[in-house]
Amino acid sequence: MSNLKLLCKILRLKGIKITRFWFKNRDKELHLVVKPHKNGCRCPECGRRCRIVRHAPSLRRWEDLTLMGMKIIFWYAPKEIQCPTHGVAQETIPWAPTYSRITYRLEWRICALCQIMTQKAAAEILKMAPSTLSDLLHRIINRVRDGHKIRGLKTVGVDEISYCKGRKFATIVYDLDRARVLWVGKGKGRETIDRFFNDFLSKGQKARIRWASCDMSQAYIGAIKHHCPNASLVIDRFHLVKALNEAVDEVRKEEWRTLDTDGRKAIKGLRWLLAMRSDSRTKGNTRFLNDLRNSNRRIHRAWVLKDEFEHFWNYSYRGSAEKFIKGWMTTALKSRIPSLRKFVNTLRNHLDHVLTFIDRNLTNAVGEGLNRVIKIVKNRASGYRGLDNFADMIYLTIGDLDIPAQIPSNLRTL
Ligand SMILES: [Zn+2]
Repeated sequence: MSNLKLLCKILRLKGIKITRFWFKNRDKELHLVVKPHKNGCRCPECGRRCRIVRHAPSLRRWEDLTLMGMKIIFWYAPKEIQCPTHGVAQETIPWAPTYSRITYRLEWRICALCQIMTQKAAAEILKMAPSTLSDLLHRIINRVRDGHKIRGLKTVGVDEISYCKGRKFATIVYDLDRARVLWVGKGKGRETIDRFFNDFLSKGQKARIRWASCDMSQAYIGAIKHHCPNASLVIDRFHLVKALNEAVDEVRKEEWRTLDTDGRKAIKGLRWLLAMRSDSRTKGNTRFLNDLRNSNRRIHRAWVLKDEFEHFWNYSYRGSAEKFIKGWMTTALKSRIPSLRKFVNTLRNHLDHVLTFIDRNLTNAVGEGLNRVIKIVKNRASGYRGLDNFADMIYLTIGDLDIPAQIPSNLRTL
């Protein structure tokens, strides 16, 4: 077996012929002059074999994987061809997408590594600068997203996320049936969400959306009502529970301010206990909360109301759920606790959309799961430089993308 053939075998280059090779940089780089084997001169659009118009004047360079810490670099002068249908174009190259400067194999590895580790760690393994890696990833994601269409969207979820240490916000749109992120956009106002509906969905697609879930922000509610005429709006359970927990915590804070040292000691650690769901509390926890009846009536009352509200999620008939929630609101108003009254007012304003939950049990399991993944992605690179970078990682991890479809199966080696 000749040296060139052996090299081809070791590097698993199928359909690619090596014509020349040399080492450089103290054997840290292996340079290969390659060419498509029997399969050149094909149109990138239709794959037809075409007439050569021009040989490229100079060699172009592609970066490939590393082998034993050695960078592999491809050189080739792509030909210009004339397709009867598509005109003059650059021939298809079997090892890389058109106009890319890295091979399919490297793209695949970048995606695989970034899905499980920080960009910084991936850059170290791939022996490149982190900024280069994020640029490359951005290009891959853009290319994959360009060729992708949203399909079969029936249940849409809209939420906001923060980045840049909580100083900036972005809007994120989910397909809740398939637990995938469809879109990430800068900002959290009406213009942002309008951009998604206008640019990415056709009129028919918008009409086919049956359910939409969001928080209590007027911007999102308004946009959904405007764009999705047939959708029933559900206020996200997660956000509603959060609002109620905040109202209860407000009571705790007020009490804390008025109490002396001994009194404060008695309600220490209460913050997490109050926010806990009844089924995740221990008996000791519940006993402690029950004892508040004697030591701090106000907090106790707020907590009892919060605990009672949990029953709402178990109703299966809208009528009885409505009766329950109205009764609950009356009791909450009687408690004369300002923060709870405020919560009741919000609830009353959105009552229709809160009750929709009973018709379509949009458990927040999916939404919460997605949120958890986003949190992991966020921690994976503490402090993204911008939204682009963060969004790339979200798309890569839980985005509605089909990356394998873009990379030939024989080149998905790791
Ligand atoms: Zn063609």
